[in-house]
Amino acid sequence: SSSKMTVDTNDVDAADDLDIEPTPSARQIVSVGTESDSYAFTFHEEELNSILAKVPAGWKVCVISVVGAFRTGKSFLLSWFLRYLEENCVRKSDENSANAADDTNQDGKKWYERVQTLNQHEGSFDWRGGKERNTTGMWMWSEPYFLPRENGEEVAILLVDTQGMFDHETTVGLTAAIFGLSTLLSSYQIYNVDKRIQEDNLQQLALFSEYGRMAFEAEEKAAAMGVVESNEEVEGSNVNKEGGAEKADPKKAPFQKIQFLIRDWQNFDTEDETDIDGMEAEMQSYLDHVLAERAASDLKETREQITSCFEELSCFMMTHPGFAVIKNKYTGDTSQIDSLFMNLLDRYCQKVFDSKSLQPKTVRGRELSAVELCTYIKSYAQMFEE
Ligand code: GDP
Ligand code: MG
Repeated sequence: SSSKMTVDTNDVDAADDLDIEPTPSARQIVSVGTESDSYAFTFHEEELNSILAKVPAGWKVCVISVVGAFRTGKSFLLSWFLRYLEENCVRKSDENSANAADDTNQDGKKWYERVQTLNQHEGSFDWRGGKERNTTGMWMWSEPYFLPRENGEEVAILLVDTQGMFDHETTVGLTAAIFGLSTLLSSYQIYNVDKRIQEDNLQQLALFSEYGRMAFEAEEKAAAMGVVESNEEVEGSNVNKEGGAEKADPKKAPFQKIQFLIRDWQNFDTEDETDIDGMEAEMQSYLDHVLAERAASDLKETREQITSCFEELSCFMMTHPGFAVIKNKYTGDTSQIDSLFMNLLDRYCQKVFDSKSLQPKTVRGRELSAVELCTYIKSYAQMFEE
């Protein structure tokens, strides 16, 4: 009918009424700037709600977010994450029956070898050539993906992209707000950096995670004062195997995983392109070196600040994807991507989504359900809006 023709496929409600699946896409959950105030921070609650509503009640959620300077390949990486999840997830949110989570496909190809073109827009986080700066804000992929955890449960995976930080146009305050909110809502924060971990990357991380910690503790205090409310049964709230709600551990760091993802790393000693284990050992020793005890007190403080904010800190490295990829006219032909980049990407995806290490979003050790996560994100977003 004509009404079907005119429906905006990004309008979830309209599509629902007409029984049409809206096209999966990145939804903007935070935008920056309005007509009257170019620095305003706006949280789009309805977008977040419509995504979290696709997670079955009571299920745990992993939120994987990428932050870092613009044009460092964040959205490109996240688009590869989507391809990995499509190939390897147990099922998608719109499927009821389990899909074969079969890595070894009939054609004998690896998951990434089945991707001929990495789309720039459709079905991807918008990644682009050229110098244009994208709008500032945070995006979440509209579809959760479901992966098994070691304990036999399944968790929902949500991917979050950020845009506009450290680009000389966004104020430090806004960068801190985006960094802070994405750190608060994620169970796995990836800090994308170019070529190496510089002292100012560490300083920024220390500053912004401290800012996030202050927000976290302020909210925690406010919740503790409203004791009655927090003791109420929350629908879909998290109940452990013994039947009691899990207790938060006040000694736990406020945030979970932070990982430096170094792009265009040029210094691997390992020469065999397939020896990813050898390269991973080099990644670890590089991180150890960067974090090693420093005599100068400011350098030392920076490191202590970071390690006290996160439960886990790690590092991974990718090499340059090849010169075809950075050309303005590159449109995603995957055969032009350097093979070592692909080998590292394959290992990286396997690590990020490994059933043994997948950790749902927790608050001081207590796992949140999708419903709780929604409430949690909303209260922080409101803080940053003020
Ligand atoms: P974002 O602004 O961080 O999200 O960056 P994009 O993902 O939009 O990528 C910006 C440009 O960098 C595009 O032209 C990509 O093809 C290119 N690119 C993607 N990954 C890498 C990488 O690892 N290294 C380099 N040098 N360029 C990359
Ligand atoms: Mg981007």
